[in-house]
Amino acid sequence: MRVGDGTHATDDVLVEAVLDALPSPTVLLAPDGTVVLTNSVWREAAHILDDERFQVGVGGDYFAMARLVRNDAATESMLDAVRALSRGEMRQVSADYALPNPAGTRWYHLQASRVDQAGHVVVTHTDVTARVEAEHAALWRARHDPLTDLPNRARLHELIDTELQRRGRSAVTVLFLDVDGFKEVNDSLGHEVGDDLLRQLSERLTGRTRAEDTVGRLGGDEFVVLCPACDADGAEALAQRFQTSFDQPFDLGGRVARLTASIGVATAAEGDTGVRSTDLVRDADLAMYAAKAAGRNGVRTFSSELRSAAQRGLLVAAELEAAIEAGQLVLHYQPVLYLPSGEVGGVEALVRWRHPERGLVPPLEFIPVAEEHGLIAPLTRWVLETAARQTAEWARAGLTLVTGVNISASHFTTGTLVDDVAVALAAAGLPPEQLILELTETSVAKDPEQASRQFSALRISGVEVSIDDFGSGYSSLSQLVNIPAGVLKIDRSLVSGLDARSGQSAAAVAAVVSLAQACGMRSLAEGVETAGQLQMATELGCTFAQGYFIARPMAAEDFLAWMVTRPTAGLPQRPRVQAGPLIHAGR
Ligand code: C2E
Ligand code: MG
Ligand code: MG
Repeated sequence: MRVGDGTHATDDVLVEAVLDALPSPTVLLAPDGTVVLTNSVWREAAHILDDERFQVGVGGDYFAMARLVRNDAATESMLDAVRALSRGEMRQVSADYALPNPAGTRWYHLQASRVDQAGHVVVTHTDVTARVEAEHAALWRARHDPLTDLPNRARLHELIDTELQRRGRSAVTVLFLDVDGFKEVNDSLGHEVGDDLLRQLSERLTGRTRAEDTVGRLGGDEFVVLCPACDADGAEALAQRFQTSFDQPFDLGGRVARLTASIGVATAAEGDTGVRSTDLVRDADLAMYAAKAAGRNGVRTFSSELRSAAQRGLLVAAELEAAIEAGQLVLHYQPVLYLPSGEVGGVEALVRWRHPERGLVPPLEFIPVAEEHGLIAPLTRWVLETAARQTAEWARAGLTLVTGVNISASHFTTGTLVDDVAVALAAAGLPPEQLILELTETSVAKDPEQASRQFSALRISGVEVSIDDFGSGYSSLSQLVNIPAGVLKIDRSLVSGLDARSGQSAAAVAAVVSLAQACGMRSLAEGVETAGQLQMATELGCTFAQGYFIARPMAAEDFLAWMVTRPTAGLPQRPRVQAGPLIHAGR
């Protein structure tokens, strides 16, 4: 087919007919860009698009028109390509281009083909706006969180990496923010309210950033903020500002709720090359975790000590899990004295890890790791079962004791505790009166309602509860009144001052003892190390005492021998009362 030389009229007519059959605006161009033929859709384009610039007919300059419509480098390279095509240097040209328009940008797919040796080129323009918009929407969706419209995890990492790799960048900071107690909102008020809270929060956070910062949502209640050109000091200030976004209460489905957040900060210093987004976000996450662990509503900046602590924690957790299986845990028992009689009324079971290399590891070195890595329930089940079995064995040997087992706050709130206790008692054939569970004030304070439910269930099952370490943390005296605990264990820090006879410690212990009595509880002096402390504890009305002065914790096999030979010098001399589960004597 030859076109454009005017000598083959039939060919021209044929070509025109073919072009007219095409649904897209189409032109036939001479090598210099002069329009040789147009189809009917092209002729209507200017009218349809309501844009005079497209009014280019036969003899008009297509290239000039293209520049008029969009005068930029992309247009020039497209025109270069069409010329190269005409010269036979290319086989096809195809490109998408956008046409900004007052009614909204439209997208066209331009397809050009060389149709003869003379270099004529046919160009079709297909409107692909719908397709491109769908693609853009899909891309947007892949990079944003549908709930808040904020950049999602993938997009955040992209943005942070881009910033970290930018030449000549200054310090880059990442903030990791997690709402305290979000789970409770979700669980108690429902997911819709939880979603609403996240939307409100995302607005507040974006309202408090600088223009160059980006707030994104990682998922759940975790938000990350990318702050370019921001060093550690600036970041702390920003973190404080974020915390103020919690000053105003939130409206949660008609209820007013006050919330707080824990924030972790990590900074890649200027010139600190090789830092990746995943490193920075992980560090900020770790710092957030440390802030949360130190109590809610805190800000913590990442340090390398924090990282090695976390890595050590992971290793210890894996090792501990295997140790529980391998039977490397042991219980030591510390006697508890019933002061009115001077008899041993019970023991406290204290776990140790008999580590093949490190020797006997004390509980404070691995209990926090177990709590953090979900190992506390299996560990406590082992302790409960072992302690119950041992107590039943002593009872068979004629020694009736009440054994205390320490329960972590994290286990207390899982809801499996009541069952775990029942299983241990049944397996050992031990009456519930011979077990007492030791809980700290903090575990009660965390979720008083849930705590109260579990206390009731335990009470019904006949197992008593004591409050451990009372006076060491922040005391929630008011809550204590509502807890159906039987024994209040007064922390060593209060007891150690008792030697002074008069003084603040004595006054504090006296107050705690009378508070316990008022609440129907008996009190126990912990960490009694001297005869003087024991004497004072007795005089101040404590029911029980426990401490190195009486005995250190010891292995089960040493306990019976100790009972026979135990020194009684310095112990309060009172009329002996009948042996029995003495801790319950005051009930
Ligand atoms: P706790 O429940 O308050 O236990 C008393 C701790 O004080 C024990 O330390 C005991 O050895 C120590 N102690 C007793 N008398 C004295 C004294 O006169 N002076 C001094 N300085 N210390 C004394 P231990 O065995 O190292 O246990 C520490 C903590 O670890 C326990 O504090 C308890 O909170 C936790 N723990 C121990 N065993 C378990 C367990 O099986 N499960 C859980 N969740 N926690 C446990
Ligand atoms: Mg204890
Ligand atoms: Mg204690």
